[in-house]
Amino acid sequence: KLKQPRLPSWLKTDIPSGQNFGKIKRDLRGLKLHTVCEEARCPNIGDCWGGGEHQTATATIMLMGDECTRGCRFCSVKTNRKPQALDPHEPEHTAEAISRWGLDYVVLTSVDRDDLPDGGSNHFAETISKIKSKAPHILVECLTGDFGGSLEGVETVARSGLDVYAHNIETVEELTPFVRDRRAGFRQSLKVLHHAKKTNPDLITKSSIMLGCGETDEEVLHALEALREAEVDCVTLGQYMRPTKRHMKVHEYVTPEKFKHWETKGMELGFKYVASGPLVRSSYKAGEFYISNILK
Ligand code: SF4
Ligand code: SF4
Repeated sequence: KLKQPRLPSWLKTDIPSGQNFGKIKRDLRGLKLHTVCEEARCPNIGDCWGGGEHQTATATIMLMGDECTRGCRFCSVKTNRKPQALDPHEPEHTAEAISRWGLDYVVLTSVDRDDLPDGGSNHFAETISKIKSKAPHILVECLTGDFGGSLEGVETVARSGLDVYAHNIETVEELTPFVRDRRAGFRQSLKVLHHAKKTNPDLITKSSIMLGCGETDEEVLHALEALREAEVDCVTLGQYMRPTKRHMKVHEYVTPEKFKHWETKGMELGFKYVASGPLVRSSYKAGEFYISNILK
């Protein structure tokens, strides 16, 4: 039986609590936005909200509620086959709040809504176009599900005016059935990404992989190659962290050197950027990476 490895020093971080963080939190309070950054107590919040070298503040906003119709084995979001109905005012309210916040780069994500006929794709698209009409300078990334494999849903989002289309494969092909919900599929996810690109070739496409689930190096390499074959532009790699004891175990803590290795490999394979490190999450400093690698 697999024992949980001990938490290595490079993963012991403090949640920021400094002055800057307090100010951002205060700014946010009146806006009634649900950020994944806060709700997941993400350790990168100082880096992302603070903006880094190019002063590009990134935050991730959750749309369509907090209950998911799926149940992936690594994810702490609650599962419900019939989540609450969509709030029809959410696109307008979200766009209004984001434009007032003064963010430079926003990542919109959501739970999977297999209960909705369009998987929520129109709700995403409406939110994006409203943000772009109120604040055209804000860069918008969408991190969507697979819309149950509906390419129409992918097209709706891909044509809505966004800058970056992200969809995560999460793990290597071989581990997909053990890690993700059974309705998700490695090949299906590649199809989503490729179709987004084919629908709108100006889009930047992006995916993410968690390491430490038991994958081999060869399998990681294959996953990266498969992403490039689907013309995916950017990839992020981070350590899988177990949210609670009811979730899938961590198989190993991958070293910072190994993450560096994947960064080098990824760049060799032709990605526009690779963000790879133990604490990297799919949206980690997304604005900063965009400014320095895509707009350069
Ligand atoms: Fe927010 Fe993502 Fe950055 Fe974490 S990595 S602080 S969730 S934008
Ligand atoms: Fe979590 Fe997304 Fe899986 Fe739903 S589909 S359980 S939100 S990872």
